[in-house]
Amino acid sequence: VHSAHLWPSRPTPTALNALSLDRKAGYIVRVPLQEKALIAKIRRAAQGRSSSLVTGIGDDSAILRIPTGHEVLVTTDFSLEGIHFRREWHSPEVVGWRCLIRGLSDIAAMGGEPHAAFLSLALPRRLAQSWVDRFIGGLLSLARAFKVSLAGGDTAESPTGVLADIMVIGSVPRGRAITRSGAKPGDRIYVTGRLGGAAAAVHELYAGRKATPRDFSGHFHPIPRIAIGRFLQEKRLASAMIDISDGLSTDLAHICEESGVGAQILSEAIPRATVGRGGVEVKPRDALHGGDDYELLFTVPRNKRVPRKIADVPVTWLGQMQRRKGILLMNAAGVGSELKPQGWEHFKP
Ligand SMILES: [Mg+2]
Repeated sequence: VHSAHLWPSRPTPTALNALSLDRKAGYIVRVPLQEKALIAKIRRAAQGRSSSLVTGIGDDSAILRIPTGHEVLVTTDFSLEGIHFRREWHSPEVVGWRCLIRGLSDIAAMGGEPHAAFLSLALPRRLAQSWVDRFIGGLLSLARAFKVSLAGGDTAESPTGVLADIMVIGSVPRGRAITRSGAKPGDRIYVTGRLGGAAAAVHELYAGRKATPRDFSGHFHPIPRIAIGRFLQEKRLASAMIDISDGLSTDLAHICEESGVGAQILSEAIPRATVGRGGVEVKPRDALHGGDDYELLFTVPRNKRVPRKIADVPVTWLGQMQRRKGILLMNAAGVGSELKPQGWEHFKP
């Protein structure tokens, strides 16, 4: 009976071995035993380690072996129920997948290689264990595809919805990480893949329509562009890079700000995602401002040649960096208008 829930749904018989008191329900809950069983289950599911992992789940700390001559990359990202996902919109597997891609994509955006992931997970009392199993299953399927170990984390009870925090550790050869701050006036701006697919799916879901993982794969199963990031790093092509998690307009503004320059992009050049059964192109504003596409946006000095495709993914030239601050969006007639960042931002009124 109890295995159906993360925490016991009925009073436990004795207070002696109980460590936490649930006042509202008026009975003692044996949370630690449940937590232990949960961690054991995650540990079994996470078996199989990457070459960089010496010790994973089960000790006080994980031990990672970072290649000699490399620097460590660290990134953390929240996935919060109601903010980043909804249980009625997203299957547990999709929530797990999307939780991990946030970290993998950040490592890709530095030109690095991911090694291990750490998951801190707070779960509400009334949540079926099957949801947790499927969430971990989705997260691990993406982890395995990129040879990343789930090497540790923490669990707790959440007073509200599901709260997941993913931390990913990666590495890059010393001094070779591609930052946001290296863009120079004249550098060309490129983007991988196609944009706006994730935003289009969210519009469908908000409108109460169905969006299936098959028709909107960019939203449900985005792919981290690790091979592309590594290629740009190894070939010393990119002067600055960022992953598109908040939207093109916002993420390009981040590069401009950190590099102390401006940009000019051609509106017609922005590659728009095709979604739905008929393969319809998304609206220009979704491609311009929609977040969660996890494509890479990067700049390259103009004397360097960029392949049209990297790791089988199309790469599109959007425009160039300029000395004048701000972002200018040019239309086909050559008329420019100022582009304000309108992508995702927390705490926006
Ligand atoms: Mg990022």
